[in-house]
Formats: sequence, C-alpha cells, structure tokens
Amino acid sequence: MRALARAIDGLELPAVEKISESSQEDPFQVLIGTLLSARTQDATTAAASERLFAAARTPKTMAALTVKRIERLIYPVSFYRHKARHVKATCRILVDRFHSRVPQTMEELLTLPGVGRKTANLVLILAFKSAKNICVDTHVHRISNRLGWVKTASPDETERALYESTTPRWWPIINLYLVTWGQNVCRPVYPRCGECVISRWCPRIGVVRTART
Ligand code: SF4
Repeated sequence: MRALARAIDGLELPAVEKISESSQEDPFQVLIGTLLSARTQDATTAAASERLFAAARTPKTMAALTVKRIERLIYPVSFYRHKARHVKATCRILVDRFHSRVPQTMEELLTLPGVGRKTANLVLILAFKSAKNICVDTHVHRISNRLGWVKTASPDETERALYESTTPRWWPIINLYLVTWGQNVCRPVYPRCGECVISRWCPRIGVVRTART
C-alpha cells in the first residue's frame, strides 16, 4: 500500500473522489455521483454529474425534476433510464424520511433505491470520514484476487474477506488506491505488469496475458 501511495501520486483521481473533493465532501453529491458512476467511464460520470448538479443541488430541487429531465441531463451514463428513476426516488425519500439529509448508517443507506454496499461504503468513507468501511467495486475485487489478498467470487464476498486479511488503517483508502491502479496499470485485460511497482509482491493470480512493455 505504501508503494501504491507513491505510485498513484499524480495519476488521475477516480470521478467520485473528484466530486467529493470539489464539493467539500458534500454527502448528497457523493451519493448521487456514486449512483451515476456504476459501470460508467469516469469522464462520462463527471460530465453527467456536473450537468445534473447545475440543474439541482439539493434533494428537494432534484426530486422536483421529472425523470425525463434527469435522463436527458445524465445521458449517456450507462443504464441512464434506471439511474434517473433511482435518483428521483432516492431524493424523494431523502426529503420525506431523512429531512433532506443523507443518512449516516449502512442500514439506512441501503433503503435508498439503487444504493448497494459499494455506494453506501463510499458515501460513509468519503462524506462521513468513516474509517471502518471498505468500498469494493470491480477494480478492488479483481486486484485483491490477483494479489492473493482474497480468494473470492463476488465483490460482497471480497469486502467481507478484506476485513479479515487487511490492516484496519488501510480500509478507507483501499478503494482509492486500487481503483486508481486498476484504471491505469492493473487493467481488467492486459494488465501492465511489466511497469507495476508492486509486481514483486504480486503472484498475478488469474492473469493470463499481460500488456507488452
Ligand atoms: S503485477 Fe500485474 S496483476 Fe499484479 S498488481 Fe501489478 S499489474 Fe496487477
């Protein structure tokens, strides 16, 4: 993790990290940005979030937008129709049940439409500074298995296994480090193992072909 910390310095941050930084860790923007980011390129997430927040910055004003308008604002994020419905429904619930605030517990966050453990963990880490959560997305799942930290078949399983196999001090930043590494070096196909600063510790489990250096 220390080697990765040095290596990611200067690399492009993941979209939701940037949204969190630019909004001063505003829980609502982190929540909506994370909802939009699923299976979507970072540049697309960033642009869609900017358009949506320019139209509405609070749960109340966003809940007042029509689903069609939200669809147009967030297009072309993947599953934009689904996500538009989830964004509107989530904002409605925030207004009606949580006094227009983002709840601070895993249990409450999971009651919001479209919010799974990945989104809930990221909101708790970035917006509420939790040191007790690990956010596992596809990059964290893939790289943790390649490194041999875990041997798991799904991100939820990986999250549970990582609490056992890693030191708590790294939990809140595992996502930042591995997502940044996964987007730049340890890519899903043809990882750049020849240029990887942690290759000496990596058994490359499951890696069939690597990129030419
Ligand atoms: S050595 Fe290859 S598989 Fe291992 S972390 Fe680096 S890029 Fe990923």
